[in-house]
Amino acid sequence: MNAQLKEYNEKRDFSRTPEPAGEEGRAEPFFVVHDHHASMHHHDLRLLMDGTLKSWAVPKLMPEEIKVKRLAVQTEDHPVAYGDFEGSIPEGEYGAGDVKIFDRGGYELLERTDDKIVVKLEGKRLRGTYALIKFKGKEASEKNWLVMRTR
Ligand code: MN
Repeated sequence: MNAQLKEYNEKRDFSRTPEPAGEEGRAEPFFVVHDHHASMHHHDLRLLMDGTLKSWAVPKLMPEEIKVKRLAVQTEDHPVAYGDFEGSIPEGEYGAGDVKIFDRGGYELLERTDDKIVVKLEGKRLRGTYALIKFKGKEASEKNWLVMRTR
């Protein structure tokens, strides 16, 4: 199990949360965007890559119009089974609040480097080419990215 999934498991008490336990899995490439009513409402963008769901919290929600840039803060990898998750995380648990699927679908990987991921999302609401670009610069957090729709 990768360190990220370990972190995922360590943050959660699976006797209390309805979320799936972290384990690696396989599936056709897909993305899911969760609408998460935690203490601060946000979207969570998740892309199946390398057997886990690479995840980013998007505080101002996923952009649907071209060239609107939004902050996307990378969070720990989530298990593939999280792609089906909807439910209510109890008070006191990590990420407490309601989680619903905002959109889900296949995606095509167009480019991937350490600091750039370009995908064509094939969802019902989110359709088009999206770029994730990691912040550069000394003071920028390692976890801060920008997400924007480019086409
Ligand atoms: Mn979240």
